Amino acid sequence: MTTHRKLSPGRLVIASHNQGKVREIRALLEPYGIEPVSAGDLGLPEPEETGTTFAENALLKARASAVGANCVALADDSGLCVAALGGRPGVYTADWAERQWFEGPDGKNGAGRDWYMAMGKVEGLLAEQGPDVDRSAFFVATLALAWPDGHSEVFEGRIEGNLVWPPRGTMGFGYDPVFQPVGMDPTFAELDPERKQAMSHRADAFRKLVKACF
Ligand code: IMP
Repeated sequence: MTTHRKLSPGRLVIASHNQGKVREIRALLEPYGIEPVSAGDLGLPEPEETGTTFAENALLKARASAVGANCVALADDSGLCVAALGGRPGVYTADWAERQWFEGPDGKNGAGRDWYMAMGKVEGLLAEQGPDVDRSAFFVATLALAWPDGHSEVFEGRIEGNLVWPPRGTMGFGYDPVFQPVGMDPTFAELDPERKQAMSHRADAFRKLVKACF
């Protein structure tokens, strides 16, 4: 049987600069006496995600923050895997949204991530395969905990669903408006945050972390 290192109450760095993820992870940690602070708030740099798996990238981020802040750090690497696209965008989910210059829904221009473009790219590739294309997909979340002494723990969660078009809903973040969990009508972006939280890939990984480390 694997022995996992336990997490003690106290400060923990959420090794992410993604506000959507930080918000969800903060809410998941709240009941456990953990005092989360984000890597962004501490001004820690964002390491380049050079890994080829979710686990490698999650560990890379968690280790960088654990060393940078000299404190236990938790990172999430996640993405959308689409069956008909051979699992893409997968670890490159965030990269598919990178854009140099665009006008956002709020009318502001800027470089960054354009989720509507990314969802459109996925939809365009599905459309190329015709009307009967398999629209199933799953979200993966890999959580990595890293301690400053080099110890680490990794947990993976998933949720299965189907991709809808056009996008629906305004809550959540990233690809939420096109992701419809199996057996449900609303997309993730049409669900209250608490409902998404209860069933998401991140919550699934988090349940495994809690069982092992609390
Ligand atoms: P990374 O983990 O920073 O490489 O980014 C993964 C990307 O996957 C995020 O930026 C989102 O676009 C997408 N993603 C991960 N989890 C979710 C989710 O819960 N809803 C919608 N998109 C997600």
